[in-house]
Amino acid sequence: MELNTLSPNDKKTLDFLLAHVQLNTANFMGYPVSKDFDFTELLPFLNYPMNNLGDPFVACTYDVGSREMEKEVIAFFASLFRAELDDWWGYVTNGGSEGNLYGLYLARELHPKGMVYYSEATHYSVQKNLHLLNMPNIVISTQENGEINYDDLEDTMRMNRHMPVIIMANIGTTMTEARDDIAKIKVILKKLAIKNYYIHADGALSGSYSAFIEPRPAFDFADGADSIAISGHKFFGSPMPCGVVVVKKSNRDRIARSVAYIGSVDTTITGSRNGHSPLFLWYTLKKYGIEGLRKRALHSLDVAAYAEEKLKGIGISAWRNPNTITVNFPVPSLAIRQKLQLASENGWSHIICMPNIEKVQIDQLVLEMKAELVAL
Ligand SMILES: *Cc1c(COP(=O)(O)O)cnc(C)c1O
Repeated sequence: MELNTLSPNDKKTLDFLLAHVQLNTANFMGYPVSKDFDFTELLPFLNYPMNNLGDPFVACTYDVGSREMEKEVIAFFASLFRAELDDWWGYVTNGGSEGNLYGLYLARELHPKGMVYYSEATHYSVQKNLHLLNMPNIVISTQENGEINYDDLEDTMRMNRHMPVIIMANIGTTMTEARDDIAKIKVILKKLAIKNYYIHADGALSGSYSAFIEPRPAFDFADGADSIAISGHKFFGSPMPCGVVVVKKSNRDRIARSVAYIGSVDTTITGSRNGHSPLFLWYTLKKYGIEGLRKRALHSLDVAAYAEEKLKGIGISAWRNPNTITVNFPVPSLAIRQKLQLASENGWSHIICMPNIEKVQIDQLVLEMKAELVAL
């Protein structure tokens, strides 16, 4: 086939978009997305139709993809999340939302009559997914820091104790990065003598680096989670949205269904699956290694502590949850919000000190905010 080229006008549109993306990537600080990556070495792969159809652990007739890398990525996270040695499985998703959908789907297959509990600070996509899955659910109130209100959770579960319990725990809420404590949730389940339960951990941002924190937050398999979802484009960084979901293999075996057409098992949500994103994640894990990732996490925590202190220093009532990289403060001017692309809710905004953020950028922000305070 003849290769066509873009018209001069279309070429201009493309250049314009690139400039726009470059400028806006440079400025943002309000969303949890790392931008310190260089995947030049992987560019040749963009010329191939990579597709990891079906279950990554079961070979597929279609053989242009990155299954081997995908398996390594899942093995890495199964170990980081302290899954039992022979009882883990997972795949690279299109993002944290799909991982959460998958966790809920497994929970529903295991407990068709279960009731889902999640806090009001839960990510907006969870409600949509509960709707898709048609699962009954109850919203639990939060404490002031955004963490689930354990008393409300206990009272509400007690009222419905004839039903199996499905918990969507936030390992870092979207607005304040509050972590629900899975150990505390387990204590309540025990107290109420609830035997049938499933705990899914939404670790989109915080779950990606919580294993590097001391004391280690209660969020993983050893703490009682049955599945964990994270985003790949947040803490790790990726040009396209992606994520990882890790579940117990014994649970996924209950929903596996063999499909002749692809010669694999249809254990994932979508049909075709991105064959590039597992490769990008693999590349990042290999480049940093576990120690590099730990350093990345500690750097972010250090910068966040610095930002909190500096903002307080100019009289802004900044605060953050213990060991998190999200710094909350009262909504600043529209100009600052637009420049940094800051989300805001109920009078609060935040910056998220992703690994690419350095102290000089914090100093710059503090200067700008101080200038506005003086102008008032
Ligand atoms: C970002 C986020 C999600 C959604 O993840 P995507 O990768 O954007 O799909 C879910 N939960 C929390 C707490 C998040 O921060």
